[in-house]
Amino acid sequence: MTKREPFPPSNFIRDIIDEDLRTNKYNGRVATRFPPEPNGYLHIGHAKSICLNFGIAANYAGGTCNLRFDDTDPTKESFEYVESIKSDIQWLGFDWDDRLFFASDYFEHLYQYAVQLIKDGKAYVCSLSAEEIRKYRGTLTKPGKESPYRTRPAEENLDLFKRMRAGEFEDGTHVLRAKIDMASPNLNLRDPVLYRIRRVSHYRTGDEWCIYPTYDFTHGLSDSIEEITHSICTLEFEDHRPLYDWILDELKLDSHPQQIEFARLNLSYTVLSKRRLIELVEKGHVEGWDDPRMPTISGLRRRGYTPESIRNFCDRVGVAKRDSIVDVALLEHSAREDLNRRAPRVMAVLRPLRVIIDNYPEGKVEELDGPYHPEDDGMGSRKLPFSRELYIERDDFMEDPPKKFFRLAPGREVRLRYGYYITCVSVVKDHQTGDVAEVHCTYDPETRGGWSPDGRRVRGTIHWVSADHSLPAEVRLCDRLFTVENPSGESADFTTLLNSNSLERLTSCRVEPSLTAATPESRYQFERLGYFCVDSRDPSDETLVFNRTVTLRDTWEKILRREEERQKR
Ligand code: ATP
Ligand code: MG
Repeated sequence: MTKREPFPPSNFIRDIIDEDLRTNKYNGRVATRFPPEPNGYLHIGHAKSICLNFGIAANYAGGTCNLRFDDTDPTKESFEYVESIKSDIQWLGFDWDDRLFFASDYFEHLYQYAVQLIKDGKAYVCSLSAEEIRKYRGTLTKPGKESPYRTRPAEENLDLFKRMRAGEFEDGTHVLRAKIDMASPNLNLRDPVLYRIRRVSHYRTGDEWCIYPTYDFTHGLSDSIEEITHSICTLEFEDHRPLYDWILDELKLDSHPQQIEFARLNLSYTVLSKRRLIELVEKGHVEGWDDPRMPTISGLRRRGYTPESIRNFCDRVGVAKRDSIVDVALLEHSAREDLNRRAPRVMAVLRPLRVIIDNYPEGKVEELDGPYHPEDDGMGSRKLPFSRELYIERDDFMEDPPKKFFRLAPGREVRLRYGYYITCVSVVKDHQTGDVAEVHCTYDPETRGGWSPDGRRVRGTIHWVSADHSLPAEVRLCDRLFTVENPSGESADFTTLLNSNSLERLTSCRVEPSLTAATPESRYQFERLGYFCVDSRDPSDETLVFNRTVTLRDTWEKILRREEERQKR
């Protein structure tokens, strides 16, 4: 288990656990679980639940957290998803030790529980169609109507249920229902379905079963079988809690975990529903689950997020009882904060413009020193070859600049980072397009390292690479996937709200030669540009590929400052 802060911020869930420990409700045990359904890749919302459940286990003496695959819906589940979920949780820094479970391993156990409910007159086989069941259920304002099959004798129910299992009936002809209360104000208690017939192969149990338990029936019982103490889930299950408790109470189980609900994470400019994420993948709106623009753990990883930055983000978001939308700027801020500390600084030019230093001897190469981190000498430094021909960023030059432009322009002097002062003396244009093709400069040999003996003031410092020594690279500028703050909250189909400029590929970038050994997933700050990560999926011997994690502009800081000012007023 990763070392976590000794005193994490408290929240209402920890308060409940503290109280349960005080009253010795579970004999001093704290056992949580993370219960994903293997029907998609994990996203940042799941990370919140993972940090919460595994975090609680780590913070209480003897605490445990199980990883349980809640795999009772065979239509959409697969081993691929199981493996991706395991690897994402490990990458985030959590460990389930030997506590890996599958609800599908409990199928026989669950079946026996259902038989018990039937024997006790608490469940019956209903032969209404799905449509009829819906009609009989009533509405929030109208009570439901009892099924004509509700009074079937236990013997008949047992026989039918056994034959359902044996595959004697067509899909949809019968279901097993709990016998609770068709007039309950809580719709979940109006004789909810516990089992349905589905002739679908299960990725783990194959064709062993043709009846499958529902989520509500499975979940509490799996928690109980594993002797979970605190079953933490999201708010939409609040209305299911009476059913969760009903099942465990009716079966008189000793292990009766407490279900506690918290608000799910919503992020602005993002969708966090698996159904929608699957649609993005399947319809080809993104390149896959680990597309760097996806809010999946694997997408964020490929984009350059560190596990620490995601964990810090989850801690910061906190745990609440009310739904809200968290600003995606906070997630980006967490990445910046962590990468600022750990990412070596290097120079890369994304849109190169050739600079020729007329008074620099042809063929001469100097090795200039550039520290990898301004505040961390331990990171060391690298040599930057300086030569007569360089590349600078196209936007760092303007032929006809406004007053406030302090970068390179005709007649103006700038500092090359760790290099020399250069002054632009002339430009050469492409006679077809009229664009500036190259810029001629002179350098002042007295200014090596970026300062001058006469102390003259140079306003602008720009980054550069040596034309001959730099390496070619492709850089992918990832931006938000959606154009609106709450894509799930709009009436329009969410795929029409996709940001068509969410990915820009720059294929003629140049990076400094020290990056020749950069390995997949290594993260850098490209000076003045942002944080970038070597792509892990498209390795190529010729060209390095980088994904932009975040720019250097921290909009979250701005949001906080604005908030502070508002409060002062
Ligand atoms: P989705 O609604 O996106 O399909 P899900 O809840 O169906 O997600 P599960 O695999 O069942 O996905 O989720 C596993 C656990 O993660 C559950 O306990 C669920 O409550 C939690 N979880 C899912 N989405 C979020 C979220 N956005 N914020 C916090 N927890 C979440
Ligand atoms: Mg779910």
